Amino acid sequence: MYDYLIVGSGLFGAVFAHEAKKAGNHVLVIERRLHTGGNVYCEEKEGIQIHRYGAHIFHTNYKDIWAYVNQFVHFNNFINSPIANYKGHLYNLPFNMNTFRELWDIVTPAQAKSIIDKQKKLINGKPKNLEEQAISLVGLDIYNKLIKGYTEKQWGCSCKDLPAFIIKRLPVRYTFNNNYFDDQYQGIPIGGYNQLIDALLDGIEVHLGIDYVQKRNDYCGIANKILYTGMIDEYFNYKFGPLEYRGLHFETERLNEENYQGVAVVNYTERNIPYTRIIEHKHFEYGTQPITYITREYPLNWCVGEEAYYPINNSRNQKLYERYKMLAKREKNVIFGGRLAEYKYYDMDDVIKASLMCVKKEIYKNL
Ligand code: FAD
Ligand code: UDP
Repeated sequence: MYDYLIVGSGLFGAVFAHEAKKAGNHVLVIERRLHTGGNVYCEEKEGIQIHRYGAHIFHTNYKDIWAYVNQFVHFNNFINSPIANYKGHLYNLPFNMNTFRELWDIVTPAQAKSIIDKQKKLINGKPKNLEEQAISLVGLDIYNKLIKGYTEKQWGCSCKDLPAFIIKRLPVRYTFNNNYFDDQYQGIPIGGYNQLIDALLDGIEVHLGIDYVQKRNDYCGIANKILYTGMIDEYFNYKFGPLEYRGLHFETERLNEENYQGVAVVNYTERNIPYTRIIEHKHFEYGTQPITYITREYPLNWCVGEEAYYPINNSRNQKLYERYKMLAKREKNVIFGGRLAEYKYYDMDDVIKASLMCVKKEIYKNL
């Protein structure tokens, strides 16, 4: 008999498993993929860590979470400074003085501010959707060249139908600073993310290739409690209908050249280029190999049964999620956590924080 059956070996499940074991519990992890780690999993090819499920850059403002992950793995000093390619012209991201200079050939922050302030005036009152939010943050030129096409292919719908918060993730700065994130701590685990997951799951029994939803009868009664990190709607057999997700397709290619694009991430912001970004993996770790690997990331319409990448947090889906959440609350001895079970656009640090909070509530509740 186990104390906990943990469904899913992504960061939420792995952190919970580690802490539960540390507190003396007997835990079993089951995972439907053939590897652990969820979406942070990397595959090593010719000395290069391939981010198999898209570029993952660890960044956080939480000192405690930075200290937590550094117990298990060391991080390099990678700073994400992606480039946007719009019709063959390159622009620095996030939106900062370098971008403004490239767009308008201006010199000072005051000049940039005056252009953006003029363009912002198109929007009156509180922005109601992503389009209005974007224009009121950076004006019409940047919206048209660097946001509209990228966002509409990424999410498969009009910017008018998307929530404003998605674009608020991106910093806007009137300084020459190409760091994509504002957070104090940032980097890539030296040797790849698998080292972090392997350290978390060290000494823990893991069964791979097991889908809990299909095999739940086999696991019935095997543990006192279950932590479920898969899709909440799938857990309830889509009783109220499926939640919507955005799918992704990754195409990885080996190239016989040392340096394809000179940076880890290039975003293609035009609508009619079918992929959103090209990742050149070696640049995450300053690789010096004579060859390189690149991955094109294509957004996809998602259907039930396919890998779900991004929750589409519009009001219809949020309402549906609330109905599933009510069912989840009534489910005895099952905890729901992580980006699929909470239907949440979580970054890695937030997932680790949420998992540690869950440990505190669940395992250390009586202390
Ligand atoms: P997951 O990693 O999805 O893990 C859930 C696991 O559960 C999976 O392994 C899955 O196979 C398994 N599972 C599901 N259902 C079942 C079942 N029925 N039975 C058994 N196993 C099951 N965050 C950042 O901080 N920085 C970034 O740069 C960044 N880039 C990203 C890029 C992309 C393309 C995507 C999609 C996400 C990115 N993220 C990034 C977010 C990051 O991936 C997540 O925060 C994190 O991986 C979530 O961990 P999780 O454990 O909640 O979910
Ligand atoms: N975005 C954009 N142009 C870009 C990069 C991002 O319009 O070149 C928008 C897009 O809507 C995206 C959101 O900003 O969904 C958040 O971007 P981020 O890079 O944080 O997305 P993620 O890495 O989570 O896919």
